[in-house]
Amino acid sequence: MNVYDADRMFGVLKKEGYNLSQDVKDSEIIILNTCHIREKAVEKVYSDLGRLAKQKNQRNKEGLRTIIAVGGCVAQAEGREIILRAPYVDIVFGPQTYHRLPDMISRSKSGESKIIEIEFPLESKFDSLPNYSVENSKTAFVTVQEGCDKFCTFCVVPYTRGMEYSRPLEQVELEVKKLVSSGVREVTLLGQNVNNYHGKSQAGKELSLGALIKRLSKIGGLTRIRYFTSYPADVDDELIDAHREVRALMPFLHLPLQSGSNKILKAMNRRHSADDYRNVVGRLRVARPEIALSSDFIVGFPGESEADFEDTINIVKEIGFVQAYSFKYSKRPGTPAADLKEQVPEKVKDMRLARLQDVLSLQQFQFNCSFVGKSMPVLLDRRGRYDGQLVGRSPFMQAVHVMAPVDLLGEMVDLTISSAQRNSLSGEIAKSI
Ligand code: SAH
Repeated sequence: MNVYDADRMFGVLKKEGYNLSQDVKDSEIIILNTCHIREKAVEKVYSDLGRLAKQKNQRNKEGLRTIIAVGGCVAQAEGREIILRAPYVDIVFGPQTYHRLPDMISRSKSGESKIIEIEFPLESKFDSLPNYSVENSKTAFVTVQEGCDKFCTFCVVPYTRGMEYSRPLEQVELEVKKLVSSGVREVTLLGQNVNNYHGKSQAGKELSLGALIKRLSKIGGLTRIRYFTSYPADVDDELIDAHREVRALMPFLHLPLQSGSNKILKAMNRRHSADDYRNVVGRLRVARPEIALSSDFIVGFPGESEADFEDTINIVKEIGFVQAYSFKYSKRPGTPAADLKEQVPEKVKDMRLARLQDVLSLQQFQFNCSFVGKSMPVLLDRRGRYDGQLVGRSPFMQAVHVMAPVDLLGEMVDLTISSAQRNSLSGEIAKSI
């Protein structure tokens, strides 16, 4: 979502006549778009700011002004604190106020200092942003839902992105149509709880994500649809139905489970048990037998015992996740779990994370190996590291490398998979489709 947000920030500023600079050293305005989900990401913001301060100083000596703006969720959570710790920061703005960047920048230019805009405005930024476009890309992100009302005890999202909001159906549809007419063939619908989408149509009816996907699948030229990231308890019948019916909906689903232990899931305030999750996966597999699953896991949540961790390892094997993001629990200020007494020692978290990642990585490799000798459609969307090499994505989000003429860049091509690595596949051209 930060990639999408950054693109949209650029869109607003481009309309004002700004361009992207090739080198940060030449930038008149520097915007850091930040993430607050884990502590590591926050530390990175301050270390980047330290570097930028030196540059601002240097440019100052040359008589050049630099505006430093910090946006996104760290800005939302820390607000004034950022300017206290880094007084050379000129603008602090949250994820819901970036449509006002031109105004903030012009105020900064006319001498106003320490501009902070982190309220949740009544207007939706989407109503005032210019049309969205991507240049020379066959794939695009489209935010359809934002924010979260689930209040998992580990998570900052409800406090930084705000309450759940769904963009109206026609607004999403128009954005996707425009992207497709500029050459995009694959869209990924985004939201912190994207499967709780409930956007209104002009007729006043609320639509679920399943209904939205069915509607978008009618747009000619849109070959692939994905969505990211989902909450297990919000998978409804219409979404499962979309997986059964819509061929453009890719058979790969990221569905965060977090832990295999019911005790921990409860302490996390997740509204699903391990069995509820098994049940959802079972229904999805009936609807789309080839569907492959990915997940998020947190190890070392407060109170997690060896037995709880074993439950996680066991369910990872049982469900057969083919990919996952796994993290050590990170204490987030203001969230209930941060105050729990039974924090797990860092060393234990390290060991559990390494063990979980070993299992996941083996499963990912086995999954990749299962495609050797088979063919699959790959959307070749970028150049590879080597001359003559292109890289694309399989239906299951695997990166696939192939030696291919450059005019196939941007094309959907059938590749025969010749070898599998842990994180990618290599293929040869079978035929263009
Ligand atoms: N809405 C989705 C998750 C989106 S947040 C869901 O609830 O299922 C992205 C991921 O970051 C989460 O799935 C979680 O695994 C991880 N995460 C969030 N807060 C964290 C924390 N305090 N420590 C470690 N990982 C965290």
